[in-house]
Amino acid sequence: MGLKLSDPVSSLKGVGAAYSAALASAGIHTIRELLLQFPVDYLDCRREAERFVPGAAAFYAAEVVSLSLSRNYRRRLSTIHLQLRTAGGRVRARVFNQPWLSRQLHRGRRIWVYGHVDTAGEIPELTAPRIFLQAPETMVPVYRETGGISRGRLGRLIHSALAVVEWPEEVLPAWILEQRRLRGLRESLEGIHLARGPVEGAPESFLDRFRYMEFFMFHLELRLVRKLLGNIPRRFTYLDAAGLRGEMEDRLGFPLTPGQAAALRDIEGDTAKPTAMQRLVQGDVGSGKTAVAFAALLLAARNGFQSVFLAPTEMLAVQHAEKAQRVLAPVPICLLTGSTPAPERRQIEQRIHNQEALVVFGTHALLNRRLTFPRLAMVVIDEQQRFGVSQRAALYGKSRGADLLVTTATPIPRTLMLALFQDLSTSTIRDRPPGREGVATRVLDASRRDAFYTWLSARLGKHAGERGDPERVFVVLPRIRPTEPAPETASLEVEGVELQKRLKNVGAALISGETPVPERKRLLGDFRSGRLRVLIATTVVELGIDVPEATIMVIENADRFGLAQLHQLRGRVGRGQSPGQCYLIRSPSASEKGRQRLKIMAQEQDGFRLAEKDLEMRGGGEVAGERQAGSLDFRYGDPAGDAAVFLQAREDAGRILDSSVMSTPWLEGIINSIRARIHRIHFS
Ligand code: ADP
Ligand code: MG
Repeated sequence: MGLKLSDPVSSLKGVGAAYSAALASAGIHTIRELLLQFPVDYLDCRREAERFVPGAAAFYAAEVVSLSLSRNYRRRLSTIHLQLRTAGGRVRARVFNQPWLSRQLHRGRRIWVYGHVDTAGEIPELTAPRIFLQAPETMVPVYRETGGISRGRLGRLIHSALAVVEWPEEVLPAWILEQRRLRGLRESLEGIHLARGPVEGAPESFLDRFRYMEFFMFHLELRLVRKLLGNIPRRFTYLDAAGLRGEMEDRLGFPLTPGQAAALRDIEGDTAKPTAMQRLVQGDVGSGKTAVAFAALLLAARNGFQSVFLAPTEMLAVQHAEKAQRVLAPVPICLLTGSTPAPERRQIEQRIHNQEALVVFGTHALLNRRLTFPRLAMVVIDEQQRFGVSQRAALYGKSRGADLLVTTATPIPRTLMLALFQDLSTSTIRDRPPGREGVATRVLDASRRDAFYTWLSARLGKHAGERGDPERVFVVLPRIRPTEPAPETASLEVEGVELQKRLKNVGAALISGETPVPERKRLLGDFRSGRLRVLIATTVVELGIDVPEATIMVIENADRFGLAQLHQLRGRVGRGQSPGQCYLIRSPSASEKGRQRLKIMAQEQDGFRLAEKDLEMRGGGEVAGERQAGSLDFRYGDPAGDAAVFLQAREDAGRILDSSVMSTPWLEGIINSIRARIHRIHFS
């Protein structure tokens, strides 16, 4: 008997409790979810190279000349040192963290390898090769390592699932498959995972179905949402609205920039209309969106109405609430987050209910709680970086009759804006507060890392123990702990700890998503006050953190990050009196695209132009590659790169909803469940 796509992964042979827990932590619960883990790359192993191909990866047949195994227990690393004979000549290779492989290898054994040969040294060296004990003779898919499950293990599991799954009936109507030339689910998945395509780049074309499907679902939901929730009459009218800008500027102690002032005028216009506001304020990191959002809160408070301000992280909610205490006083403000103790939470909920609290700060998680706001007039969602289908529906629903203001630092290029947000008004802040012209950015080769930290520690040491404003530094590392198969990627537990020791005399601390929230708050407070000068962190510091004394941002293995993320990180420094500096440390094995991204970062300060470059670089046509979390939740497609498909899907979704064409029972089911979900969204 075959297995269904909806069956749990634990029904596959060899998947026990521990394994399925590991899969679950990577978001893989069902066979469907497993099969949707697409390869990030393919190794072309169809032809053996006859000679070394410098600078490019290639496939070689080889014979083992010698081997030895070494282990470093502290760093949890093992290395097999190999000497190989190939058609191109002798080559040295190191294989990390596959100690079991050494038992299968012996002098004279014939193997196959895939990798880059570096011919610069005396003896050519294969960097991070893939070793095969049998010749694969095909394109070999490479999976992402997820939830501590190695790439190889995940690949084997996927292949065994493909062999036993019972394929369901087609869910899309036949006319769509035919007109849009889409392949069936089985053919697509087999094409992607088994890579049996006869032509170059074939696996890519098997992705068409998923891309279409994703866009199609997006448009279905968008249309339904718009129909059900668009143009809601406003519940509250602001009678006291005059002089908002002047009052805000007095409270802030600085004049608004022209961009901020224009955004505020847009908000004033919206809030005077009979329908509720639905506005997106986009502006680069540091453009001062908070001041604009605070003006909206002030408008509500002046009129005796309630408002909520939702931040993406607890740290940010705290930071904003503290700032609002100062700027909006004496408006009664409260803070409600996941770590608020239950008794206090109940008190706060009571205060909200009695309208003693007018402005409530919290995390996006607040959205899921059934809080009762008797007079909720304004909902601000700060730093909403992703605009997936579900987020959009939630945004519309949260604010029934209340005004909704969403801010984002993820610039969305104009062409996309039109396709995605026709129905949402947008204000764009293009300028920055005076004196924030940008952060000088330099790319450092990993070989200069040590010298760099010597320089940094000397620079910070000069001001150690000083009062006043000695500068603060962020060092961002990509991982919490070392993992295979990327031993050269820095982690908090190894490089972070070493660095902390090295910078001990100036005060350095480690912080990550695993740091308990109260501890995180304390560290951030110490960093703000200057007791700590260096925060060694994962990307938890990516969003919105505002410490005016922070001037230096160091990013390790910077080539592993996407442009949007690098730009966000860089935006954490140079927010005060002194200009910021950003140092991007490049991994020894940085990919071509990674190098290119760093070069762009060093040249470009403007977030909008970066976003456009990002789209260009990603374009369409990558199976998954280095796709980075961007502004949109699309996993397979890219509305700009695949504009034609995007528009086709929109047209088809419209026709299905008009009922002018054949649908399928599955589709009708989906439409009903979207409708039900939209109706269920309540906030007040
Ligand atoms: P973002 O748009 O990234 O959310 P913030 O709102 O956090 O930016 O503002 C960045 C910094 O600039 C803050 O320290 C803020 O106080 C300051 N700022 C904002 N607007 C102005 C202005 N018009 N003049 C001077 N400083 C400003
Ligand atoms: Mg902000």
